[in-house]
Amino acid sequence: MTTPSPTRSNAASPSEATNATSSHAASSSDATFLADFHHVATIGATDNDGVDRQALTLEDQQTRDWMRSWAEGNGFEVRVDAIGNMFACLQLVPTAADAPSAPYVLIGSHLDSQPLGGRFDGAYGVIAGLFAALRVKEQFAESGLQPTFNLAVVNWFNEEGGRFAPSIMGSSVYAGLFDLDEMLAVQDLEGTSVSEALTAIGYAGTDTPPEAISYAEIHIEQGRILEREAIDIGVVEASWYTQKLDIDVLGEQSHTGATAMADRHDALVAAAKVVLAVAEVVDEFEEEALVSSVGQHVVEPNSPIVVPRRVHMVADLRSSDPDVVKAARDSLHRQIASIALEHEITIKVEDFDVRAKRYFPETGVELAEKAVANEGLSIRRLETMAGHDSVAMNHRVPAVMMFVPSVDGVSHCEREFTTDEDMIRGLRVLTSVATELVGGELREERKGEVWVGRSVAEVRDSAPSSAQMPASTRVNA
Ligand SMILES: [Zn+2]
Repeated sequence: MTTPSPTRSNAASPSEATNATSSHAASSSDATFLADFHHVATIGATDNDGVDRQALTLEDQQTRDWMRSWAEGNGFEVRVDAIGNMFACLQLVPTAADAPSAPYVLIGSHLDSQPLGGRFDGAYGVIAGLFAALRVKEQFAESGLQPTFNLAVVNWFNEEGGRFAPSIMGSSVYAGLFDLDEMLAVQDLEGTSVSEALTAIGYAGTDTPPEAISYAEIHIEQGRILEREAIDIGVVEASWYTQKLDIDVLGEQSHTGATAMADRHDALVAAAKVVLAVAEVVDEFEEEALVSSVGQHVVEPNSPIVVPRRVHMVADLRSSDPDVVKAARDSLHRQIASIALEHEITIKVEDFDVRAKRYFPETGVELAEKAVANEGLSIRRLETMAGHDSVAMNHRVPAVMMFVPSVDGVSHCEREFTTDEDMIRGLRVLTSVATELVGGELREERKGEVWVGRSVAEVRDSAPSSAQMPASTRVNA
């Protein structure tokens, strides 16, 4: 099977934008959207058509600057909150000078990437969000109808978590799930804190973020269900139960030549067995019921002539069924204990970043299905194995999460690819969903909770549920 070569040859050039036959004004046309999307993909571009824009790097700053100037140039008001989330706000509902403004429908995703990541993951959702917002504004202006809510496009800080763990950081702070100060203190492997890095690129914001009433996000699927079944759009019913294990293998440092084999307490050899145990634990369950990996692995002192004294790693377990993850975790605890015994070393294992299986509101799923049907496209319900900002937001407000197909289902790599045609279809559907949300759909899911004018500072003061995350969460420290 041939893989469509992920070149940018299918990108619309900016000059094509003026010839667009779209019913939208040139500035919100499909051609302009594609030109802008492929332009953003040049920021932090890698040799093999990926991007490298880890959170709060120079490349992340350049992408943020692009969003800011695009948004301001198209009549949005840009706000940056204390954790570095960016909001491009459109006040669609007229408000008297002294009255609080109507709440906002938020749409968006994230502009940061994994190291050597793909150019679609996250960026597609933000840029599609900007164009959807522009189209919504145009539609209301043309129709003369009055929207119920305002609309803002958000670029969430540090969704990827590659440089600063844990992932989904900005939206989780916004949703009150993570503590702001704790997250500002998280350090990368170089010892730079989130707070310092935000200041360094000029995005340590002081603005009060817009108050959300509902949330919608479109993203690449990152799996191959839609491609396999030739379906245009996926709508997410639930997110998988996930958890991480913080694993510290503590051996003894010694000379690689002079130490007798019997006397060695090699942390890396034991760690290698732990990695295999994490990979093979999936075989204890039905096929595809569980996924697992060790994504991060730090060896100390990492010298060619020293038997390693310490290996720190993070294992990741995910399943649709919480009991499967819990059983896998228990099995790993038993296996790791026996590996420690065998090598006469200490292995510490701690749970962190436990995320419950969570359902998206059925009314939101139906809203997406209706929008897709109106556009003459096909849709399928599915669950997401990957974490997303929408999963955090779904704790706070009703959220709608949609996918467009990923070629070969690959993601978090340079080969990640989605066709222009699929991106355009997703943009149309997002526009339609955003129009419904701005018109007042989904608000009944609010269950009477009032969240008017709530700032990040107030979220911080209201006892965040970061109990899930022990101090060892700052695994990079
Ligand atoms: Zn993403």
